[in-house]
Amino acid sequence: MQKEKTSASQETRKPSSRLVAGDVSLDFVNTRQPDGFLQNAADLVRWSRDIGLVTEENVIAVLTEADAYPQKSMALFTRIMMLREASYRVLLALIHQTSPATSDVQVLQSMFLQTRSHERLVSADHRLAWQWESAERRLTWLHWLLSRSVEVVLTSPLMERVKECPPSEGGCGWFFVDRSKNSSRQWCSDECGSRVRMRRLYARKRTNNER
Ligand SMILES: [Zn+2]
Repeated sequence: MQKEKTSASQETRKPSSRLVAGDVSLDFVNTRQPDGFLQNAADLVRWSRDIGLVTEENVIAVLTEADAYPQKSMALFTRIMMLREASYRVLLALIHQTSPATSDVQVLQSMFLQTRSHERLVSADHRLAWQWESAERRLTWLHWLLSRSVEVVLTSPLMERVKECPPSEGGCGWFFVDRSKNSSRQWCSDECGSRVRMRRLYARKRTNNER
């Protein structure tokens, strides 16, 4: 796993302020930082609740499931983290206009296909619609949701607007969708941009004082 420096401000980011990416798939990938932010299924489902993806009822169900089947729960959590890591590397490659590793694309392909196999085509309101198999109270369902969200972004024209908050410029490395008119957004959030500007200001002051 590629490691990045983690800033103090990231450590203290609240769940709500972690919702900066403009798409849940990118918010999910951004949970890589700070290191160890998500340690197990309980952390993952609580984060999902905090960003409005699942309900409190889902949290209780997943926690109950994790208590009853700890090994199964950890194995699935590990698989979800595999999805996150492969997504991270593929996003990074695509943003920097290089080819993603075949092994990562294969991991994603296998997860996306597996996710699709859990959908059923049903008729509703005079049309057909895809519905998930009934597993709404389980961690598996959260895996499907996240996998689908990553698939949708990676295969959509939205990718042209996905950026990385630039670590080389002092940014935090999180991904976000730049929806600005002229695609000029540089930072994942105003908070991050201000932090970088403040840091530059202090560095300039320090240099001037040392002269
Ligand atoms: Zn940032």
